[in-house]
Amino acid sequence: MALNFFTQTLEQLKQAGQLRQLPQLEHQGKWIVRAGRKMLNMSSNDYLGLASDERLRGQFLQKYQENLPHFTSSSSRLLTGSFPIYDEFEQLLAQRFQRQAALLFNSGYHANIGILPAITDKKTLIIADKLVHASLIDGIRLSEAKYIRYRHNDMAHLADLLTKNHQDFDRIIIVTESIFSMDGDYADLVQLVAFKQEFENVLLYVDEAHAIGACGKTGLGLAEELGCIQHIDFLVGTFGKALASQGAYVVCDQVVRDYLVNKMRPLIFSTALAPFNVAWTHFLFEQLPSFAARRQHLNQLSEQLREQLAQMMPSTMPSQSYIVPYILGDNHRTLSVAQHLQQQGYYCLPIRPPTVPKGTSRIRLSLTADMKETELAQFLDCLRKGIK
Ligand SMILES: *Cc1c(COP(=O)(O)O)cnc(C)c1O
Repeated sequence: MALNFFTQTLEQLKQAGQLRQLPQLEHQGKWIVRAGRKMLNMSSNDYLGLASDERLRGQFLQKYQENLPHFTSSSSRLLTGSFPIYDEFEQLLAQRFQRQAALLFNSGYHANIGILPAITDKKTLIIADKLVHASLIDGIRLSEAKYIRYRHNDMAHLADLLTKNHQDFDRIIIVTESIFSMDGDYADLVQLVAFKQEFENVLLYVDEAHAIGACGKTGLGLAEELGCIQHIDFLVGTFGKALASQGAYVVCDQVVRDYLVNKMRPLIFSTALAPFNVAWTHFLFEQLPSFAARRQHLNQLSEQLREQLAQMMPSTMPSQSYIVPYILGDNHRTLSVAQHLQQQGYYCLPIRPPTVPKGTSRIRLSLTADMKETELAQFLDCLRKGIK
Protein backbone atom coordinates (compact mmCIF):
# COMPACT_ATOMS: atom_id res chain seq x y z
CA MET A 1 0.00 0.00 0.00
CA ALA A 2 2.61 2.49 1.05
CA LEU A 3 4.45 1.90 -2.21
CA ASN A 4 1.43 2.97 -4.32
CA PHE A 5 2.62 6.54 -4.25
CA PHE A 6 5.84 5.61 -5.99
CA THR A 7 4.08 3.51 -8.64
CA GLN A 8 1.64 6.30 -9.40
CA THR A 9 4.35 8.92 -9.63
CA LEU A 10 6.32 6.79 -12.06
CA GLU A 11 3.19 6.25 -14.14
CA GLN A 12 2.60 10.02 -14.29
CA LEU A 13 6.19 10.60 -15.38
CA LYS A 14 5.77 8.01 -18.11
CA GLN A 15 2.57 9.66 -19.35
CA ALA A 16 4.35 13.01 -19.51
CA GLY A 17 7.26 11.54 -21.46
CA GLN A 18 9.57 12.29 -18.53
CA LEU A 19 10.39 8.84 -17.19
CA ARG A 20 14.13 8.37 -16.60
CA GLN A 21 15.88 5.02 -16.82
CA LEU A 22 19.48 3.90 -16.50
CA PRO A 23 20.66 2.78 -19.93
CA GLN A 24 22.88 -0.25 -20.51
CA LEU A 25 25.85 0.96 -22.51
CA GLU A 26 29.14 -0.24 -23.83
CA HIS A 27 31.90 2.23 -24.71
CA GLN A 28 34.20 1.91 -27.71
CA GLY A 29 36.26 5.07 -27.94
CA LYS A 30 34.02 7.83 -29.29
CA TRP A 31 31.27 5.31 -30.03
CA ILE A 32 28.56 3.97 -27.79
CA VAL A 33 27.01 0.55 -28.23
CA ARG A 34 23.45 0.19 -26.99
CA ALA A 35 21.17 -2.77 -27.67
CA GLY A 36 23.61 -4.00 -30.31
CA ARG A 37 23.70 -0.70 -32.20
CA LYS A 38 26.97 1.23 -32.54
CA MET A 39 26.47 5.00 -32.48
CA LEU A 40 28.71 8.06 -32.59
CA ASN A 41 28.48 9.62 -29.12
CA MET A 42 26.93 13.08 -29.60
CA SER A 43 26.15 13.45 -25.90
CA SER A 44 29.58 13.20 -24.33
CA ASN A 45 31.29 15.59 -21.92
CA ASP A 46 34.67 14.23 -23.01
CA TYR A 47 35.24 17.46 -24.95
CA LEU A 48 38.95 16.94 -25.60
CA GLY A 49 38.63 13.23 -26.37
CA LEU A 50 40.98 12.39 -23.49
CA ALA A 51 38.76 9.78 -21.83
CA SER A 52 38.92 7.49 -24.83
CA ASP A 53 42.64 8.04 -25.51
CA GLU A 54 44.33 4.66 -24.99
CA ARG A 55 47.80 6.14 -25.45
CA LEU A 56 47.43 8.52 -22.49
CA ARG A 57 46.14 5.72 -20.30
CA GLY A 58 49.13 3.59 -21.26
CA GLN A 59 51.57 6.43 -20.48
CA PHE A 60 50.02 6.95 -17.08
CA LEU A 61 50.26 3.27 -16.12
CA GLN A 62 53.82 3.18 -17.46
CA LYS A 63 54.77 6.15 -15.28
CA TYR A 64 53.77 4.38 -12.07
CA GLN A 65 54.32 0.74 -13.06
CA GLU A 66 54.86 -1.26 -9.85
CA ASN A 67 54.37 1.75 -7.62
CA LEU A 68 50.67 2.40 -8.22
CA PRO A 69 49.05 5.01 -5.95
CA HIS A 70 46.45 3.77 -3.45
CA PHE A 71 42.99 2.93 -4.80
CA THR A 72 41.37 4.46 -1.73
CA SER A 73 42.20 7.19 0.77
CA SER A 74 40.26 5.24 3.47
CA SER A 75 39.28 8.46 5.26
CA SER A 76 38.39 12.12 5.12
CA ARG A 77 41.39 14.34 4.47
CA LEU A 78 40.98 15.88 7.90
CA LEU A 79 41.68 12.52 9.52
CA THR A 80 44.02 10.07 7.79
CA GLY A 81 42.96 10.53 4.16
CA SER A 82 45.50 13.16 3.12
CA PHE A 83 48.21 11.97 0.71
CA PRO A 84 51.09 14.03 -0.73
CA ILE A 85 49.58 13.90 -4.24
CA TYR A 86 46.72 16.12 -3.00
CA ASP A 87 49.01 18.95 -1.94
CA GLU A 88 51.14 18.54 -5.02
CA PHE A 89 48.14 18.85 -7.27
CA GLU A 90 46.63 21.78 -5.37
CA GLN A 91 49.91 23.62 -5.65
CA LEU A 92 50.01 22.96 -9.38
CA LEU A 93 46.46 24.29 -9.72
CA ALA A 94 47.22 27.44 -7.75
CA GLN A 95 50.37 28.00 -9.77
CA ARG A 96 48.68 27.53 -13.16
CA PHE A 97 45.84 29.87 -12.26
CA GLN A 98 48.31 32.26 -10.60
CA ARG A 99 46.19 32.39 -7.49
CA GLN A 100 47.05 31.87 -3.82
CA ALA A 101 45.36 28.53 -3.26
CA ALA A 102 43.28 25.64 -4.51
CA LEU A 103 41.27 22.91 -2.80
CA LEU A 104 40.11 19.55 -4.18
CA PHE A 105 36.69 17.96 -3.72
CA ASN A 106 35.13 14.59 -4.49
CA SER A 107 32.91 15.94 -7.25
CA GLY A 108 31.45 19.09 -8.69
CA TYR A 109 28.21 18.22 -6.95
CA HIS A 110 30.02 18.06 -3.60
CA ALA A 111 31.75 21.36 -4.34
CA ASN A 112 28.52 23.19 -5.11
CA ILE A 113 26.42 21.75 -2.28
CA GLY A 114 29.30 22.29 0.15
CA ILE A 115 30.84 25.67 -0.59
CA LEU A 116 27.64 27.71 -0.81
CA PRO A 117 26.21 26.71 2.60
CA ALA A 118 29.67 27.18 4.18
CA ILE A 119 30.27 30.73 2.94
CA THR A 120 26.80 32.13 3.61
CA ASP A 121 24.59 32.98 6.57
CA LYS A 122 21.28 34.76 7.21
CA LYS A 123 22.85 38.10 6.36
CA THR A 124 23.98 36.87 2.95
CA LEU A 125 22.07 37.24 -0.30
CA ILE A 126 22.73 34.81 -3.15
CA ILE A 127 21.79 36.08 -6.59
CA ALA A 128 21.96 33.28 -9.15
CA ASP A 129 21.42 33.03 -12.88
CA LYS A 130 18.02 31.45 -13.64
CA LEU A 131 19.65 28.55 -15.51
CA VAL A 132 22.34 27.42 -13.08
CA HIS A 133 22.94 23.68 -12.62
CA ALA A 134 20.91 21.59 -10.15
CA SER A 135 23.96 21.18 -7.89
CA LEU A 136 24.14 24.96 -7.41
CA ILE A 137 20.40 25.11 -6.69
CA ASP A 138 20.83 22.37 -4.09
CA GLY A 139 23.76 24.27 -2.55
CA ILE A 140 21.57 27.36 -2.30
CA ARG A 141 18.74 25.34 -0.74
CA LEU A 142 21.06 23.92 1.90
CA SER A 143 22.26 27.38 2.85
CA GLU A 144 20.71 29.89 5.24
CA ALA A 145 21.03 32.69 2.75
CA LYS A 146 18.18 34.52 1.15
CA TYR A 147 18.21 34.06 -2.59
CA ILE A 148 16.93 35.55 -5.81
CA ARG A 149 17.46 34.49 -9.39
CA TYR A 150 18.07 36.84 -12.30
CA ARG A 151 16.84 36.21 -15.84
CA HIS A 152 19.37 34.15 -17.75
CA ASN A 153 22.42 36.27 -18.61
CA ASP A 154 20.34 39.44 -18.17
CA MET A 155 22.91 41.88 -16.78
CA ALA A 156 20.44 44.77 -16.58
CA HIS A 157 18.17 42.66 -14.36
CA LEU A 158 21.13 41.72 -12.18
CA ALA A 159 22.26 45.37 -11.90
CA ASP A 160 18.77 46.27 -10.79
CA LEU A 161 18.71 43.54 -8.11
CA LEU A 162 22.15 44.59 -6.83
CA THR A 163 21.15 48.23 -6.58
CA LYS A 164 17.95 47.37 -4.71
CA ASN A 165 19.50 44.91 -2.27
CA HIS A 166 23.16 45.63 -1.63
CA GLN A 167 22.59 47.79 1.44
CA ASP A 168 20.46 45.19 3.20
CA PHE A 169 23.05 42.39 3.36
CA ASP A 170 26.57 41.81 4.67
CA ARG A 171 27.54 39.91 1.56
CA ILE A 172 26.05 39.30 -1.85
CA ILE A 173 27.25 36.28 -3.77
CA ILE A 174 26.63 36.21 -7.50
CA VAL A 175 26.44 32.61 -8.73
CA THR A 176 26.76 31.57 -12.36
CA GLU A 177 28.11 28.91 -14.68
CA SER A 178 30.65 30.12 -17.22
CA ILE A 179 29.55 28.00 -20.19
CA PHE A 180 25.97 26.97 -19.53
CA SER A 181 25.49 23.22 -19.55
CA MET A 182 22.22 23.11 -21.46
CA ASP A 183 22.39 26.18 -23.73
CA GLY A 184 26.12 26.29 -24.40
CA ASP A 185 26.24 30.08 -24.13
CA TYR A 186 28.71 32.20 -22.14
CA ALA A 187 28.19 34.17 -18.96
CA ASP A 188 29.29 37.81 -19.22
CA LEU A 189 32.18 37.39 -16.78
CA VAL A 190 33.63 40.81 -17.62
CA GLN A 191 30.43 42.55 -16.56
CA LEU A 192 30.15 40.39 -13.44
CA VAL A 193 33.67 41.44 -12.44
CA ALA A 194 32.67 45.08 -13.06
CA PHE A 195 29.79 44.66 -10.56
CA LYS A 196 32.37 43.69 -7.95
CA GLN A 197 34.05 47.02 -8.45
CA GLU A 198 30.76 48.87 -8.25
CA PHE A 199 29.42 47.12 -5.12
CA GLU A 200 32.07 46.39 -2.54
CA ASN A 201 30.18 43.63 -0.69
CA VAL A 202 29.81 41.48 -3.81
CA LEU A 203 31.65 38.17 -4.27
CA LEU A 204 31.72 36.08 -7.45
CA TYR A 205 31.12 32.33 -7.64
CA VAL A 206 31.70 30.84 -11.09
CA ASP A 207 31.24 27.16 -12.05
CA GLU A 208 33.49 26.27 -15.00
CA ALA A 209 32.36 22.60 -15.23
CA HIS A 210 31.90 22.75 -19.01
CA ALA A 211 34.74 25.14 -19.78
CA ILE A 212 37.76 23.84 -17.86
CA GLY A 213 40.13 22.08 -20.21
CA ALA A 214 38.27 22.84 -23.42
CA CYS A 215 38.26 26.64 -23.33
CA GLY A 216 41.00 29.26 -22.88
CA LYS A 217 44.50 29.48 -24.38
CA THR A 218 46.04 26.97 -21.95
CA GLY A 219 42.75 25.25 -21.14
CA LEU A 220 42.01 27.09 -17.89
CA GLY A 221 38.44 27.88 -18.87
CA LEU A 222 36.33 30.85 -19.88
CA ALA A 223 37.86 32.96 -17.10
CA GLU A 224 41.20 32.55 -18.83
CA GLU A 225 39.74 33.39 -22.23
CA LEU A 226 38.13 36.55 -20.87
CA GLY A 227 41.05 37.54 -18.61
CA CYS A 228 39.06 37.33 -15.36
CA ILE A 229 40.85 34.65 -13.31
CA GLN A 230 42.21 37.09 -10.72
CA HIS A 231 38.80 38.59 -9.97
CA ILE A 232 36.68 35.53 -9.29
CA ASP A 233 36.47 34.73 -5.58
CA PHE A 234 35.30 31.12 -5.96
CA LEU A 235 36.49 29.70 -9.28
CA VAL A 236 35.05 26.18 -9.33
CA GLY A 237 35.53 23.42 -11.89
CA THR A 238 35.12 19.67 -12.26
CA PHE A 239 37.42 16.97 -13.57
CA GLY A 240 34.64 14.69 -14.82
CA LYS A 241 34.20 16.42 -18.16
CA ALA A 242 37.03 17.60 -20.44
CA LEU A 243 39.60 16.42 -17.89
CA ALA A 244 38.53 12.82 -18.29
CA SER A 245 38.68 12.03 -14.59
CA GLN A 246 36.65 12.64 -11.46
CA GLY A 247 36.60 15.24 -8.70
CA ALA A 248 36.49 19.01 -8.55
CA TYR A 249 38.39 22.07 -7.33
CA VAL A 250 38.04 25.63 -6.20
CA VAL A 251 40.74 28.18 -6.94
CA CYS A 252 40.68 31.01 -4.43
CA ASP A 253 42.53 33.13 -1.85
CA GLN A 254 44.34 31.31 0.97
CA VAL A 255 41.87 32.62 3.56
CA VAL A 256 38.99 31.06 1.63
CA ARG A 257 40.77 27.72 1.47
CA ASP A 258 41.50 27.78 5.22
CA TYR A 259 37.89 28.72 5.90
CA LEU A 260 36.49 25.88 3.76
CA VAL A 261 38.73 23.32 5.47
CA ASN A 262 37.02 24.34 8.71
CA LYS A 263 33.47 24.80 7.53
CA MET A 264 32.66 22.76 4.46
CA ARG A 265 30.73 19.64 5.45
CA PRO A 266 31.15 17.52 2.27
CA LEU A 267 34.89 18.05 2.58
CA ILE A 268 35.03 17.24 6.27
CA PHE A 269 32.58 14.32 6.39
CA SER A 270 33.31 12.33 3.24
CA THR A 271 36.14 9.98 2.31
CA ALA A 272 38.62 11.81 0.10
CA LEU A 273 39.16 10.90 -3.55
CA ALA A 274 41.40 7.92 -4.19
CA PRO A 275 45.08 8.93 -4.57
CA PHE A 276 45.09 6.87 -7.78
CA ASN A 277 42.37 9.09 -9.16
CA VAL A 278 44.11 12.31 -8.09
CA ALA A 279 47.34 11.11 -9.71
CA TRP A 280 45.50 10.52 -13.01
CA THR A 281 43.88 13.97 -12.89
CA HIS A 282 47.26 15.53 -12.08
CA PHE A 283 48.83 13.63 -15.00
CA LEU A 284 46.29 15.06 -17.47
CA PHE A 285 46.10 18.54 -15.98
CA GLU A 286 49.86 18.91 -16.19
CA GLN A 287 49.65 18.43 -19.97
CA LEU A 288 46.65 20.71 -20.44
CA PRO A 289 48.51 23.54 -22.27
CA SER A 290 49.78 21.01 -24.83
CA PHE A 291 46.25 20.03 -25.88
CA ALA A 292 45.83 23.30 -27.81
CA ALA A 293 45.42 21.52 -31.18
CA ARG A 294 42.52 19.52 -29.74
CA ARG A 295 40.87 22.71 -28.49
CA GLN A 296 41.30 24.34 -31.89
CA HIS A 297 39.80 21.40 -33.75
CA LEU A 298 36.89 21.33 -31.28
CA ASN A 299 36.28 25.03 -31.94
CA GLN A 300 36.23 24.51 -35.70
CA LEU A 301 33.74 21.64 -35.43
CA SER A 302 31.59 23.71 -33.08
CA GLU A 303 31.46 26.66 -35.44
CA GLN A 304 30.32 24.39 -38.27
CA LEU A 305 27.62 22.75 -36.19
CA ARG A 306 26.31 26.09 -34.88
CA GLU A 307 26.23 27.68 -38.34
CA GLN A 308 24.50 24.74 -40.00
CA LEU A 309 21.98 24.30 -37.24
CA ALA A 310 21.16 28.02 -37.24
CA GLN A 311 20.36 27.73 -40.97
CA MET A 312 18.10 24.75 -40.38
CA MET A 313 16.16 26.38 -37.58
CA PRO A 314 16.24 30.14 -37.85
CA SER A 315 14.75 30.52 -34.35
CA THR A 316 17.02 31.17 -31.41
CA MET A 317 20.48 29.63 -31.31
CA PRO A 318 22.03 30.63 -28.01
CA SER A 319 25.16 28.48 -28.18
CA GLN A 320 28.65 29.95 -28.39
CA SER A 321 30.44 26.68 -27.68
CA TYR A 322 30.75 22.94 -28.34
CA ILE A 323 27.43 22.40 -26.51
CA VAL A 324 24.70 23.06 -29.05
CA PRO A 325 21.05 22.61 -28.12
CA TYR A 326 18.60 21.57 -30.80
CA ILE A 327 15.42 22.85 -29.18
CA LEU A 328 12.18 21.13 -30.18
CA GLY A 329 9.94 22.22 -27.30
CA ASP A 330 7.57 19.27 -27.03
CA ASN A 331 8.63 16.28 -24.87
CA HIS A 332 7.27 13.55 -27.10
CA ARG A 333 8.60 15.06 -30.32
CA THR A 334 12.02 15.47 -28.71
CA LEU A 335 11.95 11.80 -27.73
CA SER A 336 11.00 10.65 -31.21
CA VAL A 337 13.65 12.80 -32.97
CA ALA A 338 16.29 11.48 -30.54
CA GLN A 339 15.17 7.92 -31.29
CA HIS A 340 15.33 8.59 -35.02
CA LEU A 341 18.88 9.93 -34.75
CA GLN A 342 19.89 6.91 -32.68
CA GLN A 343 18.51 4.61 -35.38
CA GLN A 344 20.71 6.47 -37.84
CA GLY A 345 23.80 5.81 -35.71
CA TYR A 346 24.07 8.94 -33.54
CA TYR A 347 23.78 8.71 -29.78
CA CYS A 348 21.66 11.80 -29.16
CA LEU A 349 19.73 12.21 -25.94
CA PRO A 350 16.50 14.04 -25.22
CA ILE A 351 16.72 16.54 -22.37
CA ARG A 352 13.39 17.32 -20.80
CA PRO A 353 11.98 19.21 -17.81
CA PRO A 354 12.83 19.48 -14.98
CA THR A 355 16.42 19.51 -16.29
CA VAL A 356 15.45 22.35 -18.64
CA PRO A 357 12.52 24.81 -18.41
CA LYS A 358 9.07 23.63 -19.54
CA GLY A 359 8.47 23.92 -23.26
CA THR A 360 12.18 23.88 -24.13
CA SER A 361 12.79 20.14 -24.45
CA ARG A 362 15.79 19.61 -26.61
CA ILE A 363 18.48 17.38 -27.93
CA ARG A 364 21.69 18.52 -26.37
CA LEU A 365 24.38 18.00 -28.97
CA SER A 366 27.93 18.07 -27.73
CA LEU A 367 31.09 17.68 -29.72
CA THR A 368 34.45 16.18 -28.89
CA ALA A 369 37.90 16.83 -30.33
CA ASP A 370 38.23 13.27 -31.58
CA MET A 371 35.37 13.65 -34.07
CA LYS A 372 36.26 14.11 -37.71
CA GLU A 373 34.85 16.84 -39.97
CA THR A 374 33.44 14.16 -42.26
CA GLU A 375 31.61 12.59 -39.32
CA LEU A 376 30.04 15.93 -38.44
CA ALA A 377 29.06 16.55 -42.07
CA GLN A 378 27.34 13.16 -42.23
CA PHE A 379 25.51 13.87 -39.01
CA LEU A 380 24.29 17.22 -40.35
CA ASP A 381 22.99 15.50 -43.51
CA CYS A 382 21.09 13.08 -41.38
CA LEU A 383 19.64 15.89 -39.27
CA ARG A 384 18.54 17.81 -42.38
CA LYS A 385 16.70 14.77 -43.72
CA GLY A 386 15.12 14.15 -40.34
CA ILE A 387 13.77 17.70 -40.03
CA LYS A 388 11.96 17.63 -43.40
C1 LIG B 1 28.42 18.27 -14.26
C2 LIG B 1 28.24 19.52 -13.50
C3 LIG B 1 28.46 19.58 -12.13
C4 LIG B 1 28.70 18.34 -11.31
O1 LIG B 1 30.01 17.93 -11.41
P1 LIG B 1 30.34 16.40 -11.02
O2 LIG B 1 31.80 16.41 -10.85
O3 LIG B 1 29.86 15.58 -12.15
O4 LIG B 1 29.60 16.10 -9.76
C5 LIG B 1 28.41 20.80 -11.51
N1 LIG B 1 28.12 21.93 -12.19
C6 LIG B 1 27.86 21.91 -13.52
C7 LIG B 1 27.55 23.17 -14.22
C8 LIG B 1 27.91 20.70 -14.20
O5 LIG B 1 27.62 20.68 -15.50
